[in-house]
Amino acid sequence: MVSLDPVLSEAERKKELASKLKLMSSDQEEHIAEVRAQEAGLPYISLVTFPIDSDVLELVSKTRARETDAVLFYHQGKDVRVGAVEPRSEKVQELMKDLIKKFGAAPVLYLISRRSLAACLARYRREAPQEAVLEGELSVNANEVTLAGEAVKNLEELGARITSLPPSQILQAVVVNATIMGASDIHIEPKEKNARLRFRVDGVLQDITNFARDGWSLLLSRIKVLSRLKLNVHETPQDGSFVLRLPLGTAGEENIYDIRVSILPGGWGETIVMRLLSRKMEAVSITDLGMKERDFQLVQAELKRANGMILVTGPTGSGKTTTLASFIKAVNTPELKIITLEDPIEYRLPGVQQTQIDHAAGYTFAKGLRSILRQDPDMILLGEMRDEETAETAVHAALTGHLVFSTLHTNNAAGAIPRLVNMGAKPYVLAPALNLIIAQRLVRKVCPKCAEEYKPDAAIKERIAEVMAGVRTDVFDPSRLKNKKLTILKAVGCKACVNGYKGRVGAFEIFAVDNNIKELMIEGANEFRVQEAALKQGMTTITQDGFIKVLDHVTSLEEIERIAEE
Ligand SMILES: [Zn+2]
Repeated sequence: MVSLDPVLSEAERKKELASKLKLMSSDQEEHIAEVRAQEAGLPYISLVTFPIDSDVLELVSKTRARETDAVLFYHQGKDVRVGAVEPRSEKVQELMKDLIKKFGAAPVLYLISRRSLAACLARYRREAPQEAVLEGELSVNANEVTLAGEAVKNLEELGARITSLPPSQILQAVVVNATIMGASDIHIEPKEKNARLRFRVDGVLQDITNFARDGWSLLLSRIKVLSRLKLNVHETPQDGSFVLRLPLGTAGEENIYDIRVSILPGGWGETIVMRLLSRKMEAVSITDLGMKERDFQLVQAELKRANGMILVTGPTGSGKTTTLASFIKAVNTPELKIITLEDPIEYRLPGVQQTQIDHAAGYTFAKGLRSILRQDPDMILLGEMRDEETAETAVHAALTGHLVFSTLHTNNAAGAIPRLVNMGAKPYVLAPALNLIIAQRLVRKVCPKCAEEYKPDAAIKERIAEVMAGVRTDVFDPSRLKNKKLTILKAVGCKACVNGYKGRVGAFEIFAVDNNIKELMIEGANEFRVQEAALKQGMTTITQDGFIKVLDHVTSLEEIERIAEE
């Protein structure tokens, strides 16, 4: 316990407290906050692992929260709760007046520790729009957007245009065209004589052009300034971000992107990678995921259940978050309380209480999940299960009246079971908890405007028949391959697409954990036997589903072979 000298001035007391706080453990810090709250006659709360809806947090901007050392952490009708480090300060009193005007009732004021404040500040979803105007922002004029949209017909033309621009105009042209092409990342790599520019579109890196090193060094400085990074540091990696504003038409509307910047030192200079995240990212409808009828019906049935666990597996970038977001969108109704735990929040889900992981502050998957369960949710979206404690709590939640959605990093669906067992889950506890397991990859769709139809030769048909062998005939009719009119599509390329592809859908491997599979799990059956039972149920492997998508003219044979090789 720390005693404070009563004769010290308020400022000195704060200073002394601050210096003492540095020496203390976090528990002591919370204890002091508790004592200070008692002295002030206010309630105390620790917000370090309190689940806070990011939408609620943003009712007070991050800038204002920083200025006042106060956060709005709970809001339900007129029940508004604010935590402040110095609740009696003038700035907090002003904030309270503004909040009374806004909500028509006085918020309940809590005293919180600086650690709680830091934990809340870290959980603001990316940068809040209202403060983005101040710094770290790139605004593009409407002319450039129109020009870029009209001038560029294909990748070669885009490359030629960027190479022809004066260095000062390259950044604007690069980011605008990346958004028009729907790129997720921009890569700029300096080489001996020039710099290489690539865009990642639909998961695949596309070469755009090489431009002069002058352009690269100017670009590097501008991006560093925008992202508030150190200009004179060249030997260590740096991470930052800035906001991109793109005007939409003439009505003053705009598209806002958060651009995450990563700068890495390399042999010929620093490599720049920018990830583009649209603020408008909304969950897609479950009908747009690309599921065939059998898979779609199975998922629909499982989403109607009130408890259990739905797992989506696959490597990073396989679209797991997109699939789960569409599931939440499908089940979301006002009568249900849905809470998420994400790292980071990618899609905005209206009406859903979304919370963001903050490892540094201790709001981890394990701790966050336990806090969430105290909030009495009906459904929980858990970004991922990596450790024993999280898996155990999630399985327990699934068994006690919650529908739990989560992800695992396994290559196939049946592999999810041994992974969970390796993480410490007991098969006889796990078996009743699991409802549905999905493995997936993303495949690029062929562009319908330029794709060419052709008749596959005997060798191709034989290969497809070999892969499809054993698939239940009600899921895939093998006589399709004998049809003389059978055609498949070849990717070509036009101004509406990138190398003949546009957009992506999932290739899925889905099985319900039915009684047969539950029994196998309890028996301790290996992955192979679970896979066998799932195939009997009508499951197709990811490759089989991919081949069906080739025959259905969704994608090309080359694309499925590319995915299979990965
Ligand atoms: Zn095309």
